[in-house]
Amino acid sequence: MYITTSTVVVAPDRSCLVVDPGVTAHEIDLLSSSIRVHGWRPVAVWSTHGHWDHLLDGGMFTGLPRWSGGWPVDVETLMTERDEDDELARVLLASHGDSPAPVVVPPPVRYPSKDGWLDWDGPLVRVVEHAAHAPGSTSLVVPSADALVAGDVLSDIEIPLLDLSAPDPVGTYRAALDLLAGTASLVVPGHGHVGPLSPRVAADRAYLDGSFAGDARLLDPWLAAVHEAQRAVLAG
Ligand SMILES: [Zn+2]
Repeated sequence: MYITTSTVVVAPDRSCLVVDPGVTAHEIDLLSSSIRVHGWRPVAVWSTHGHWDHLLDGGMFTGLPRWSGGWPVDVETLMTERDEDDELARVLLASHGDSPAPVVVPPPVRYPSKDGWLDWDGPLVRVVEHAAHAPGSTSLVVPSADALVAGDVLSDIEIPLLDLSAPDPVGTYRAALDLLAGTASLVVPGHGHVGPLSPRVAADRAYLDGSFAGDARLLDPWLAAVHEAQRAVLAG
């Protein structure tokens, strides 16, 4: 669903951190089975930001600690947004029996940290806090994998989706790109495909600078519509 990327950061003892675990109940079940097959043991689930499709529960993840940047979340609003999502409804209708994953209750808490790093027993994870796409967004730098688990930024399929509630959405997004550039060789976006980080940073900077022509991401009708809504902000 939405070409969602779920990431599992695994420690040598097979304990693991699951980042943004999926959208439909079937996806969560598949991810749970895959983790079981590998013998990995989730110790927590990470939500990169507070949009409903990153706050879903179920399968083996039910009851695990939920970590995030620690933003306030209104569960009722999230459930309404999930249930009113036309694309999700369309996919579920076509899937014969799949259902939306439940929204996590209670909402995530702020992650444990020590000296600027995630305080857990797994591989080193540095949390980069920014507000590019939503207030309190987080991206995870995993040096041992030379990878940035980005959340909903730096996608090959999505243009920069601005937080239009921010006082300066474009400046805020640019500041986030400055923080994230050069943190790793590879990027794992919340939606899209794994790829080299630096061309993604360049593409998103170009978009923010108003270079839209030839941006293949705008061929998607939904993103073209979002782009039109963002244009006034970008022009300003
Ligand atoms: Zn999002």
